[in-house]
Amino acid sequence: MSLTLHWNGRTYPFEAPDDARGSEHHDAYVDKRLHKNVHLIRSGMLGGKPTRQLVLKIGYDDEDIAALEKEAKLYRDQLKPLQGKHIPFFFGIFHGQVEDQDAACILLEYCAGGGQMTYPEMNRQIMLAACAIHAVGLMHCALLHRPQHLILSGKSVKIVDFSHAEPHRCVGATPTLYPGMGGDATGCLELVGLEACYGVFSGERIPEARPSRPPSRAADGGPLQVLARRVGGYMTFQ
Ligand SMILES: [Zn+2]
Repeated sequence: MSLTLHWNGRTYPFEAPDDARGSEHHDAYVDKRLHKNVHLIRSGMLGGKPTRQLVLKIGYDDEDIAALEKEAKLYRDQLKPLQGKHIPFFFGIFHGQVEDQDAACILLEYCAGGGQMTYPEMNRQIMLAACAIHAVGLMHCALLHRPQHLILSGKSVKIVDFSHAEPHRCVGATPTLYPGMGGDATGCLELVGLEACYGVFSGERIPEARPSRPPSRAADGGPLQVLARRVGGYMTFQ
């Protein structure tokens, strides 16, 4: 598997490790920087029109490359069954050089922000995704104060960025069943914290029943754009 990175009018060849599956080739055109080392690209198969939007995360020094290798291993192993459901699809890690400097990059599904969801449903999906991650033996470690890692993708919420994830043996947490009800202080630190933020009603008033609204047109949001504000019982994603 290989990748040709097209960036600022130049091309850089990248190769996947020997254990990578298949002979797939990506032509990756960098469109814009989304966040630090995260870029939005258009990808196409060899000779084909690059139309598919993906996320490319790149690192240069030894520390950053090692972090990407660690994250790629998580996607390939423990997180594999969650790909596409609770987390982005992972398309591989590639090694090469940019401007004569060693580099590595990983390719991920682009989870565009946008749309609308009731916040009880959003809370439910966040907790399901977080519990799924903990159930495979990982703690995300950057969810509690970084809501940008929660992205509306289609009709689900996906959790991104596992660069801080650590092995974890989860002891679980007590669900928050009523507004203002606290979590179990002896439970899993991350799940208890998430319950406090996203537990069923999160201390908000219980929304009145109302007809569901048609989904709004998905905005061209970056993958790091997040749920931003609550409006009349609905969480609006921008
Ligand atoms: Zn846990």
